[in-house]
Amino acid sequence: MERMPTLHDAFQAHARIRPMIRETLVIPSPDLAKETGAAGIHLKLECLQNTGAFKVRGAANKILSLSNAEKEKGVITFSTGNHGKAVAYVAGLAGIRAVVCLSEHVAEYRAEAIRALGGEVARKGRSQDEAETHYHELTRDLGLIPVVPFDDPMVIAGQGTIGIEILSKLPDTDVLLIQLSGGGLVAGIAMAAKSINPTIRVVGVSLERSPAMLESIKAGKPTPVEEKDSIADSLLGGIGVDNRYTLPMVNTFVDDHVLVTEEEIEAGMVYIFQKHRLVAEGAAAVGVAALMHGKVDVAGKRVTTVLTGSSIDSGVYVRILNRDIHDV
Ligand SMILES: *Cc1c(COP(=O)(O)O)cnc(C)c1O
Repeated sequence: MERMPTLHDAFQAHARIRPMIRETLVIPSPDLAKETGAAGIHLKLECLQNTGAFKVRGAANKILSLSNAEKEKGVITFSTGNHGKAVAYVAGLAGIRAVVCLSEHVAEYRAEAIRALGGEVARKGRSQDEAETHYHELTRDLGLIPVVPFDDPMVIAGQGTIGIEILSKLPDTDVLLIQLSGGGLVAGIAMAAKSINPTIRVVGVSLERSPAMLESIKAGKPTPVEEKDSIADSLLGGIGVDNRYTLPMVNTFVDDHVLVTEEEIEAGMVYIFQKHRLVAEGAAAVGVAALMHGKVDVAGKRVTTVLTGSSIDSGVYVRILNRDIHDV
């Protein structure tokens, strides 16, 4: 598919991927609503999705729509982790070969999770863009079919199924607060949600440390940012120098942008554990972090944000919870 995905594509994706995904719960967060003055705040629990993150939706939509000849060749991807896991998982269930290219920056437990699902891991490069170069070489040399993490209409349509699920449970949602890295997630959800109800306001939440999409929007073209570590490591990485879909879609469908700091994200993770007894990785907590720290005016609004994943090293997670308990 060589065009922007539509709501119809997201509906088709939903039917296609249903056997491989969970329709995750949407739960209320009454204390957060009270603290922010919102009429209601809901959390969509993609942290309980198969493989521990929402990315299985886009990966499944892409891989299941390949031709038999393409499936026979096998698939390849590069990823900061969750997408790689999703591709390995879907390919494993479908009996397809999967090669996952990671930069040396990506935590080792993420590589192990990919191998455990039957994926082959190829590590090279200091940044995600370097891992991408290696991936282009391997794609050419091995004749594999690329499954990219965000800039593909089928992947975006797959992530859009989250928007369909949110609005079927909560049709009166006013504001969607969505993580923004490569932009596949927010592009898919915003496109689907606004196709259903154009008055919904979509706010993208980016890392203050690495706002690749925001810099690209300002520059009017894909713009690399210096890669730094973040507790929200799933949100690191550029938008790709050849970006075709997510940059224009974010421009079209996202109304506002906010930034969150490392400290705010950690506070969000602790809040999610303390109030809901759920494990959110850093990337999953940025919407809650933005709400807690008054980054978005939600007074009187019905708000939904997505807890996108739970892939976090247990040692890192325990340190964050402990630090908070001792500091407060
Ligand atoms: C990939 C990812 C995101 C961001 O999605 P994009 O499509 O890259 O914007 C957010 N949270 C988690 C847990 C992720 O794995």
